[in-house]
Amino acid sequence: MKLNFYPGPSKLDESIQEFMLLALNERILEYNHRSTQFHELYQKTENTFKEKLDIPDDYKLYFISSATEAWEIIAQSFTQKGSLHMHNGAFGEKWRNCAHKLIGTESLEFGLNELPQSEVLLTMIDIICLTHNETSNGSVIPTPFFKKLKTPEQALIAVDATSSLGGVELPWNHIDICFASVQKCFGLPSGMGVMICSPEAVSKGLSIDEDDYYNSFTKLERNRLKWETSFTPNILDIYLLQSVLNNRKPIGEIATETKGKAALLYNFLDSHHSLAPLITEHELQSETVVAVRANEKTLTDIIEKTYQEEILLGKGYGKWENDTFRIANFPAISKEEIIQLILFLNEI
Ligand SMILES: *Cc1c(COP(=O)(O)O)cnc(C)c1O
Repeated sequence: MKLNFYPGPSKLDESIQEFMLLALNERILEYNHRSTQFHELYQKTENTFKEKLDIPDDYKLYFISSATEAWEIIAQSFTQKGSLHMHNGAFGEKWRNCAHKLIGTESLEFGLNELPQSEVLLTMIDIICLTHNETSNGSVIPTPFFKKLKTPEQALIAVDATSSLGGVELPWNHIDICFASVQKCFGLPSGMGVMICSPEAVSKGLSIDEDDYYNSFTKLERNRLKWETSFTPNILDIYLLQSVLNNRKPIGEIATETKGKAALLYNFLDSHHSLAPLITEHELQSETVVAVRANEKTLTDIIEKTYQEEILLGKGYGKWENDTFRIANFPAISKEEIIQLILFLNEI
């Protein structure tokens, strides 16, 4: 493979090899998750996370298996009445289906190039679930929406930011639970998820006190107080997360780079004769995953030629499987690589 624009697992951060060797040399992978060495690693990772991603000081970081697991944890540990899911794509819908098997849910589906109508909020729910960056169709929920969102009293806002956390800035003051897997914007090997909770989420989780599963929130929190995890975690990914983030610029600068690279892609698509962005509303266009609409012939051509050149693009996903492809624009992907892709697509 020469160039990788697949939206997860995605191009690894350029320093992964170096940090993997360091992890081996320091023998951190051989210390158990109740050791002082692990306690220090967890604490350091949380600090680096907050510092680099501009997360409020009183939020807490938990390590889980994946973003998919967060869907379950939120339904089981943070929801008593039910959850309201606002979705316009495959991941938001999967989250809703996952929760629906466990608890009562309400669904508010909205169209492409639209935002959910938040006035209809019900009081029967105690959590609102939003997919910040819908990886299947390249749409994003813009920050002003979070600021305007009216929530029933004491309802939490949970956000799946799997393909945006680490690549763009998030409105932390309007988010109670945020989660992501590490194989997207962090450029890490897959196999771990992170969940960040506001003080309100922590106290709600503790008051519900559900403790039936291996990663029930009370267990996560009880263990975090000792800088431990409930099960033996992916220590390599935790080590790499801390190292990669520590090595990266602060999120403000990363977000500016993400925006710049995304603008190159969208400007190119706007001027192209047979390609167009799937999302046409500028404000709703994702900067980290760009979904491109193409007719069947162009799409076949692109798939064939990029395959020959060993350029990996994301296939269309779900409903958009046959008329789109996707381009990841994560921090590990450089501006030069985006320009190379644009030049290549321009020749087709
Ligand atoms: C990739 C992705 C997931 C699933 O991640 P896993 O690591 O497979 O659990 C969930 N939500 C969104 C928005 C994603 O992009």
